[in-house]
Amino acid sequence: MRSKIVAGNWKMNLTFEKADELLYQIGEQLEKGVPQDVELIVCPPSVYLELATDFAQEVEFKVGSQNVSQYSKGAYTGEISAEMLSSIDVDYCIVGHSERRKYFKETSKELSLKVEQLLEYGIQPIFCVGELLEERESGKHFDVLKSQLSEGLFNLSESEFSNIVVAYEPVWAIGTGKTASPEQAQEVHAFLRGLITEKYGKELADETTILYGGSCNAQNAKELFAQNDVDGGLIGGASLKPIDFIEIAKSF
Ligand code: PEP
Repeated sequence: MRSKIVAGNWKMNLTFEKADELLYQIGEQLEKGVPQDVELIVCPPSVYLELATDFAQEVEFKVGSQNVSQYSKGAYTGEISAEMLSSIDVDYCIVGHSERRKYFKETSKELSLKVEQLLEYGIQPIFCVGELLEERESGKHFDVLKSQLSEGLFNLSESEFSNIVVAYEPVWAIGTGKTASPEQAQEVHAFLRGLITEKYGKELADETTILYGGSCNAQNAKELFAQNDVDGGLIGGASLKPIDFIEIAKSF
């Protein structure tokens, strides 16, 4: 179902005490009111996921993991399976973030296996695509985005795909303070929805939630979210500031 979503990616930040404090502060801000039709997702480091899912029993937000193993179980030291995430009530998982593609060399094949694992355990993937600055500057960004989307997701059936949230995150905008303009975001979101239409038909494409990520903050969220094909945001830095994070969720 197409939803309005604001998801916070905490990345590798915060000690246990700070994570606990941030969850509490998000809860406090939420009490002041966020539109009912906006889904808020918090994606802390995996060691704090259970803390977050405990909070989520009292406070209106969903919990997402930042990663999952491509394997189901067994001798994969250090990995966390989709079944484990599901056993602590995790709702979403980010897949294919550019930092994982870059620093951990995750390939489209691995990402597609991760998506399959998540779907098997009822966890919704937030699947990230995004081009590098040089790819945009050389006019290759549409080709790159098409490959990332189709290689990662287009092996799915229609009913499987209906559980996917897509996030467009231009790599040049992540953590740089350089946001895509609302027009640039809309152009790419419409392009992605068009690819989904070609593959799965208009009805499913219209139902797909496509988020924008990349230096989205309380100042620029309103303009970005006002675009027809922008259904919300995947927020990095600003998600560590409770007042800003909730302000972004009020920007629809
Ligand atoms: C992200 O890492 O997904 C992200 C969008 O980061 P930032 O908002 O800090 O650019």
